[in-house]
Amino acid sequence: MAITKRLKSEIIFNRDKYLSPSYKTVEAFQKPIILERGKMQYVWDIHNNKYIDMTSQNIVISVGHSHPKVLKKINKQLETMPHCSSMYIHKAPGLLAKKLVEKMPDHSSGEDWVVHFVNDGSEAVDLSIQMAREYTGNTNIFGLYKGYHGLQGYAAGLTAIGKASQNCYNSMFTGITHVELNKIEQLDNHLKYGTSGNVAGIIIEPLQGYGGINPLDYGYMKDAFELIRENNGVAISDEVQTGFGRCGESFWGFQMKNNDAIPDIVTIAKGMGNGMGIIGAVICRKSIADAFSKKMFFNTYGGNPISTTASLAVLDIIDNEDMISNCNKMGDLLTMELSNLCDKYPSVYSEIRGKGLFQALEIYGTTPEKSIYNSIKLHNKTLNYGVLMGRGSAAGNVFRIQPPMCINRKDVMTVVEMLEDMAIGELKN
Ligand code: PMP
Repeated sequence: MAITKRLKSEIIFNRDKYLSPSYKTVEAFQKPIILERGKMQYVWDIHNNKYIDMTSQNIVISVGHSHPKVLKKINKQLETMPHCSSMYIHKAPGLLAKKLVEKMPDHSSGEDWVVHFVNDGSEAVDLSIQMAREYTGNTNIFGLYKGYHGLQGYAAGLTAIGKASQNCYNSMFTGITHVELNKIEQLDNHLKYGTSGNVAGIIIEPLQGYGGINPLDYGYMKDAFELIRENNGVAISDEVQTGFGRCGESFWGFQMKNNDAIPDIVTIAKGMGNGMGIIGAVICRKSIADAFSKKMFFNTYGGNPISTTASLAVLDIIDNEDMISNCNKMGDLLTMELSNLCDKYPSVYSEIRGKGLFQALEIYGTTPEKSIYNSIKLHNKTLNYGVLMGRGSAAGNVFRIQPPMCINRKDVMTVVEMLEDMAIGELKN
């Protein structure tokens, strides 16, 4: 797979000249890396260099790049009927909705759950806010600092990562209040003194993702949901990253031991399609959906047969190939090994956070700026070890450890050995 220097520079030239400069703001590495193909937990660049994909391409590849079972099903669907509007009936969306509802716990109201399909995570969040407002008749929505819920529609207003806010369009989002994670008293005070006692709801990630893999304290999610319900609002669990078993303990993030909460609305996207885009969904209590059903609900691609078929295959693989227990086992191994590294090299690695295949390793620095500087420096080195590591957090100073759920022990140990080797290298300097 020889590739000439000319072709490489043409690919980079096209990106730089014809794609918007906005893409520069999210570029993963200083040195451009051009990816060409992926298989299970690995990806290859155009020079045929192989990397362990520790990013799942932003947690989209859940069961593995080009998983053969997903491919087989979507190829068949592609040949049969690539699209069927939700104005007509196709078997796949209804079947996927049934399987998703079967994954939901009973709600204390005794109500059924129903599903709305959308195009992506932002749209799922945007729709969930519309529903919360329509159902309650209230406008105030609460979110958490460092929460990430998307950058389109109302989701953009709920995202509280400073660098993602644009001055002018911020004014579009009224009725949003952000509070600090794990400070239940702050939420209580806002509700008591800052509202009429009637709010639309709260949206919480069960384990904050983009913000830096920030775990919720024991009972926080449950207490926050309860307070919101006391103020006539609804509880939204944003499972766009945490859903589908990635955290290892349970299928949904709200079911994790420290959360043990039940929401009224759940938003999902990303990993549910394993790379088959145009996918997202809002699962909600039937009465919330009923309140919203007085007017037309429609989007062109939501419930697309290829995406929903892909998602059915993903669910099948998660259930039948022991994927959640692999997340748990590999996650525990990572936690143990990375905690050891933090103990052994505190001047390089300061903290490990998270659960399952949803963890973060914070890079040490004597000041916040140095921590960011060090994380960029080390991050660029990971490519030399054949590891595609994610880097993120609100500050940009953590390695995000979120590989496909099929990662194995050997790959985990390759990553651990790389981190140790880089730490030794740092101490020598
Ligand atoms: N919610 C969460 C928790 C997310 O992490 C993201 C994306 N990173 C979104 C919503 C938005 O999803 P999308 O980028 O598909 O719009």
